[in-house]
Amino acid sequence: MSEIDSIRSQVISCIKCSLSKTRTNAVPGKGNFKAEILFIGEAPGRNEDLKGEPFVGSAGNILSEALASSGLSRDDVYITNVVKCRPPNNRIPLQEEKESCQPYLSKELEIIKPKIICIMGNTAYGSLLGGDSIIKNRGKIVEKDGQRYFLTVHPAAAIYNPELKSVLKSDMKSLVETLDRLKKDENLVKTQ
Ligand code: SF4
Repeated sequence: MSEIDSIRSQVISCIKCSLSKTRTNAVPGKGNFKAEILFIGEAPGRNEDLKGEPFVGSAGNILSEALASSGLSRDDVYITNVVKCRPPNNRIPLQEEKESCQPYLSKELEIIKPKIICIMGNTAYGSLLGGDSIIKNRGKIVEKDGQRYFLTVHPAAAIYNPELKSVLKSDMKSLVETLDRLKKDENLVKTQ
């Protein structure tokens, strides 16, 4: 079993926090474990909980469309959440729930070693970087502890505010351009 499959099976059977009592299915991360971009939201929603997969349903379709508009497919990236089980009524995860789930995310990051992490939405922005306004900061690149992050809106927000679909598409374009620039810079350093 690969390391990522091992995390997947640990998440599926995890009972480390109380969200295990209310979930239908745990939702492990999914995608390419050699991805250069790792996408992260705060927590699974209703459709994800029912299916056991991250970013399915309308929000998932909006994300897939935005990725495709920049030449990316879901198979090119890895998608996960800060907590892997749905909080009841989609409430914000509690600090203790995030702390219980954190080792899974750390392990995902250790295996995938993404060149850039794309944070989707305000709550994930708060959890991962202590930020508080994704709308003001979307499109920005942040560096913390040697890791680069890119900030964008949550695809679910675009269900109720369709203007955010074009915001998300424009951010995906910037994200791909940022990644290309990073890789060029790395190659330059290697050849010097
Ligand atoms: S949210 Fe994380 S820590 Fe809590 S039960 Fe689910 S997988 Fe385990």
